[in-house]
Amino acid sequence: MKTHTPQSIRAWKDQLISQDEIDRYLVDGKDFIDEQQIYATLDGQKNPDTSHIREIIAKAYSIELMDSEDVAALLQVTDPDLRNEIAQAAIEIKKKVYDNRVVTFAPLYCGSKCVNRCAYCGFRSDNPSVIRKVLTMDEIREETRVLAGVIGHKRLIIVFGEHPETDADYIAETMKTIYEVKVPVRDGMGEIRRVNVNAAPLPIRDLKKLQEAGIGTFQVFQETYHHETYQSVHPVDTLKGNYRWRLYALHRAMDAGIDDVAIGALFGLYDWKFEVMGMVAHARDLERLYGIGPHTVSFPRLTPAVGTNFDHLRHQVSDADFTHLIAVLRLAIPYTGMIITNRETPQIMESVIDMCTQRDAESKIGIGDYSDAYRKDQIAEREQFMLNDTSSLDQVIQKLAKQGHITSFCTAGYRCGRTGDKIMGLLKSGKEGCFCKLNAVLTFQEWLEDFASEETRHIGEALVRKEIEEIRERVPRDFSQATFAKFLSDYERIQHGVRDLSF
Ligand code: SAM
Ligand code: SF4
Repeated sequence: MKTHTPQSIRAWKDQLISQDEIDRYLVDGKDFIDEQQIYATLDGQKNPDTSHIREIIAKAYSIELMDSEDVAALLQVTDPDLRNEIAQAAIEIKKKVYDNRVVTFAPLYCGSKCVNRCAYCGFRSDNPSVIRKVLTMDEIREETRVLAGVIGHKRLIIVFGEHPETDADYIAETMKTIYEVKVPVRDGMGEIRRVNVNAAPLPIRDLKKLQEAGIGTFQVFQETYHHETYQSVHPVDTLKGNYRWRLYALHRAMDAGIDDVAIGALFGLYDWKFEVMGMVAHARDLERLYGIGPHTVSFPRLTPAVGTNFDHLRHQVSDADFTHLIAVLRLAIPYTGMIITNRETPQIMESVIDMCTQRDAESKIGIGDYSDAYRKDQIAEREQFMLNDTSSLDQVIQKLAKQGHITSFCTAGYRCGRTGDKIMGLLKSGKEGCFCKLNAVLTFQEWLEDFASEETRHIGEALVRKEIEEIRERVPRDFSQATFAKFLSDYERIQHGVRDLSF
C-alpha cells in the first residue's frame, strides 16, 4: 500500500477535480437544481385537492418520470387518508414493475481514512474518535469469505472514505479481489456475483478503471441538493466542498460507460420536500442526456455517529413524512429500484418494504467487522454511523418470505447485458418482470439449499412452490412451454447441486 505525506495528499487532491468535467454538463452556465423554481413549484401546489391527487396517482401507472408540478402536489399532501391512497398506489406500482421481489445486499466498508470533513459523518478527518484503517487485499478476501461463504450474500456495495489510499486503482483492485473469492458451502459455492461501489465522485479516466474491473452500479449520494446547506456541512476547502463536482458524478459515470448509476439524498440535512424535488430533477437530467434515469434511488436518514454532534441539524424527518416521501418517490420515478437500509429500525423497514426493491441485511459497517470474530456487537469507534436493524440475513429472508416477498439473488440481468437502457425499456413495459421472476425463484432456491436454517428453508420452499404454480398459470401467455420446461429442469438441477443457472 502506498504511504502518503501531507504533500502527496495535497498533490493528489489538486489533480482530482477537472473543471471541464463539470462545465460540459451545465446549461447556460447553470446546473439542473433551480432553487427558485423548486420553491415556486412547491408553493404553487399547496393544499392540493383530492381529485387532482387521484388524477396524478392514475397517471403514475404509465411508469414514466413524473412532472415536477405533480411531484410537488403529492409532496404537499398532509391528510393521512390521502397519503394512504398514495402509499397503496406505490405498493401496486412496485408490484407492477418488480413483482414481489426484494434484492438483499451487504455493504463492505474498505477504508475509514478520509480527507473531507462532512459535519454529519464519523469518518470526517477531524474526528479523533474513529479508528483509521484501510483493508489490505488479504483482509478484503477474509471479509468476502464471510460474506459469501458464511452469510450467503451474492451482492455487495463496497464503501470508501475519500483518500489517496483508497483511490480508483485501490477500488478496482478490491473489486477484482472480491470476484475471485470462491468458498465451498454445503452443495454449492459461495461467491459474490455483483459488486456495486459507493465512493466519492471520480474523474472519467478513473471511472473507466472501475468499469473495466466489472463494477455493477456506481452510487453517489448528493447528500443535499440545496446549495447553501451543502456548503454549510461540506467545508469549501475540501474536495467534497465542490457541489457541482458531486452533482455531475453520475453523468461522468455514464460517459465512462457505467450505465447503472444510483442517486440519493441524506434526509435530515434540509427540507425533505426540496430533496425529493432535487432527486427527481437529477433523474430528469440523466434522462435528458442519456435516455435513462437512475438504476436505484436511496433515501438514508441521518443516524448518530461517534464523536459527532447533530444538534444543529434542524431538519429531522418524522416517520410519517419519511414513509410519505418514499411513496412519492415510488410514483415519481416509478421504474427505479428503491433501497432502504439498516439505518432504519426493523419496524420502519417492515412498514415500507412493500414500496422498495432492495435492502441490506446482516450489515456491518465497521472496517474489518465481518471476519473479525464475526461479532454481534457494533463498535462505535470503527463505524461511520450506527445501524438500527441488526437482524441476520436468514432472519430477514424468513420475515420477507412470511410477508410474501421472494428474495432474489439474481445477477443474471447484468451479465447478459440487461442493463442501462435495455433494462429500463423492459422495466417500463413490464417485461423485465418475466425474466426476473424465473431467475428469482432459481436463485432463491439455490440460497435455501446452501445457507438457510431449517425453519427458513421450510418457509422459503412453501413460497417457491407457490411461485412455481403462479408461473405455470402464466404459460403460454407470458412464458412459452419450452421456457417453462427449462425452468422446471433448472429448478431440479439446483436441488441436485448445480449452481448459477439463469435465463
Ligand atoms: N466517502 C464517500 C462519499 O461521501 O461519497 C463514500 C460514501 S460515505 C462512506 C456513504 C454515505 O454515508 C454518504 O454518502 C452519506 O450519505 C452517508 N452517511 C454519512 N454519515 C451518515 C450518518 N451520520 N447517518 C446516515 N448516513 C450517513
Ligand atoms: Fe468522508 Fe464520505 Fe464521511 Fe464525508 S461522508 S467524511 S466524504 S466518508
